[in-house]
Amino acid sequence: MKESLLGKTLEELQGVCAELKLPKFTAKQIADWIYKKGVADIDSMSNLSLKAREILSEKYTVGLIPPLEEIGSDDGTYKYLYKYGQDTFVETVMIPDKKRVTLCVSTQAGCKMGCKFCATGEQGFIRNLTAGEIINFVRSLPDFEDLSNIVYMGMGEPFDNYKEVIKSIEILTSDWGFAMSPRRITVSTSGIIPQMIDFIYETECHLAVSMHNPFHEERLNIMPIEKKYPIEDVCDEIRKHNWYGQRRVTFEYIVFKGKNDTYEHAKEISYLLRGIETRVNLIRYHSTPEYDVEGANDEEMRRFQEELERFGLTTTIRASRGEDILAACGLLSTKKLTEDK
Ligand code: SAH
Ligand code: SF4
Repeated sequence: MKESLLGKTLEELQGVCAELKLPKFTAKQIADWIYKKGVADIDSMSNLSLKAREILSEKYTVGLIPPLEEIGSDDGTYKYLYKYGQDTFVETVMIPDKKRVTLCVSTQAGCKMGCKFCATGEQGFIRNLTAGEIINFVRSLPDFEDLSNIVYMGMGEPFDNYKEVIKSIEILTSDWGFAMSPRRITVSTSGIIPQMIDFIYETECHLAVSMHNPFHEERLNIMPIEKKYPIEDVCDEIRKHNWYGQRRVTFEYIVFKGKNDTYEHAKEISYLLRGIETRVNLIRYHSTPEYDVEGANDEEMRRFQEELERFGLTTTIRASRGEDILAACGLLSTKKLTEDK
């Protein structure tokens, strides 16, 4: 088995070149070919000498893996299924909007967090994705050139795979990599505090926190992570950081009809978020068979939005996209697809 170059940092590529006794500047050339130009094979790296390409090919391969399947939605959203290795199936979603094209990437196959309403959580944990596999979602995208934003909101909990996620962000944002602004990247977490703090200090990307309920007992019922890292403590940590300026923290909130959309919930949310420059992003619940609870309809969403705004909170209602192809972030589950293969 040859090792993939995709997913290696410039420093790691320099290590590869040193090991193979290739000139140091070759590393930068390789990074250029795999990240900026997106070549699929070492032979195409035309500014490397024939000898260098031969030596490199003996142990390495680019490692670009195209999607196995793509499904288009009526509204322009695309869902891509990837097969990584023997039996790992993972998905991404591309969401074109007026001005931007957002890719929603996965960080794990399955997830350990076990949120009751989540199709990925329902599968249990399969394995962590490598930085190379995360980067492959971006680089193998047929419409790569159109991409403007990346959200880590697909399958898995990014902060439960911290090292690889941070490495993928380094590749996306470095000059030698994709040279993307960190302000075009958002990482969503269910609230793993230690890694969340590291992320705040080690990157300049936006952060999204999945709240879904401000009350300890109620949140504990749907999100087991509440036991170890209560949402109140998550908010306390976030409050210590200055979020003014260009960098954003937002709170994700699925509105379950009659469960988390009362006056008391709105009041408690405003208490938890006091002093934090933030926005509450209201999400429609995409029902999963395992969690048989009704989501709020448009009118109920707007009513809850007004309730929150009366407490002085800034809110948005997230547009639902790609519902006909089960492509909403958080609805990614390859269970069915893998059964079909
Ligand atoms: N694990 C991270 C990121 C992936 S989930 C997290 O939990 O934040 C991305 C978002 O989709 C989260 O806000 C999650 O709560 C939400 N989500 C999960 N299942 C959903 C569903 N059935 N309907 C709507 N949103 C859902
Ligand atoms: Fe994991 Fe996020 Fe789903 Fe919870 S909502 S199970 S943390 S992917």
